[in-house]
Amino acid sequence: MKNSFKNLFLLTLFFSILIGCSQEELTSDEELIIESSDFKELEITQDDILKIKKLEFNTTGLRLIEIITSKGIAEKYYIVEEDIRIAAHQVDKMIGAASISKQYNSNNIVDNDREITVRGVTQGSGAITNAQKNALLKAIENYNNVGIGLRFRLTFGTKDNSKDINAIQVFDPRNGAQADFPFGGNPGPEVRMFTGASGNNSLVLTHIWMHEIGHTLGLRHTDWNGRQSCPPELQGVEPVNPNGLPNVNGLNHIPGTPTGFDATSVMLACFSTSENGQFGTYDVVALKHLYPWVGLPIVRTRNPDPTICTNVFVQPDRYMLPVSPGADTYELTSNSSNLIVDRFVRPNQEILMIASQPGNYRLTLKVSNSFGSRSATIFVTANQCNDDGGGFGF
Ligand SMILES: [Zn+2]
Repeated sequence: MKNSFKNLFLLTLFFSILIGCSQEELTSDEELIIESSDFKELEITQDDILKIKKLEFNTTGLRLIEIITSKGIAEKYYIVEEDIRIAAHQVDKMIGAASISKQYNSNNIVDNDREITVRGVTQGSGAITNAQKNALLKAIENYNNVGIGLRFRLTFGTKDNSKDINAIQVFDPRNGAQADFPFGGNPGPEVRMFTGASGNNSLVLTHIWMHEIGHTLGLRHTDWNGRQSCPPELQGVEPVNPNGLPNVNGLNHIPGTPTGFDATSVMLACFSTSENGQFGTYDVVALKHLYPWVGLPIVRTRNPDPTICTNVFVQPDRYMLPVSPGADTYELTSNSSNLIVDRFVRPNQEILMIASQPGNYRLTLKVSNSFGSRSATIFVTANQCNDDGGGFGF
């Protein structure tokens, strides 16, 4: 009973999502071309499928390719769940590490509390476009704003293998991208935007980078068990755990995130033209679970600090706090009863301030997490303004 109700729920969501989708979904039936390297498609054996199943990936559409590297060495890679590339020689080690189930993730996520260097390749082979560059800036800013134990440092230039991740563009007519999966505590070394994705608007491009960087950190498609975000021909329409496929509640399920379809996730298998370039609520939960912030939060306020209008002395004014990385709670207190302000607040949401007298005031912003708290002062000047003056926040 429980299961059939769940399936009905999934189906309802699935239909409503498809209506919103355009034709520009990631397609799977075309050849994958990786830079200018030679590569060939190898036959998938039952053994390959079993190995990938052991890692709890969806094996629908599994491919095995052989790439000739610039040094003339042939290397085999699995292409999993459309856009995750795993070197074949790593798979056995990943399975070995999975024998104690709780360690499974350790080889498939990145060591926490460290800096991740990202090179946006803007020159030479694999150069991204200006629009892709701007979207990458935004994507990295979004990752840094989540407040996780990974801090991203983005630079631009030619491809640089000393960086943890290179973001490049590769020739491929499909509207999509591809990334490597982490191994040995390091992120997947490359995210590859397809040339076929260059027509997307900036929000969609930001979404694509965020999605692929998510793979490099070990995140998998949230709808891996059905690909409900994709058009019908690309869906792996499967009941939960069919034919021995891994259960969605298996060891890779991240606590606090839904096991059903999450329409807001950046980690859905397919994207649409209406992506907003933001993490879904549960993407943030997942990232914070895998990569918890370590230490006190960093407190941030905006500059210049707000000036508000008090023409009628009760007029609320608006203030938006920036994100303080690592903070779980934000609390504002006023130094005067003449300035009233919301107490428990969130960044990027409107905070109302009401001054009953012109003057200079101070707010204390206290940001906290399980390690403790940090505070900063926000200076507020309440001016008398014209009727139509209207104050301004930030
Ligand atoms: Zn993906």
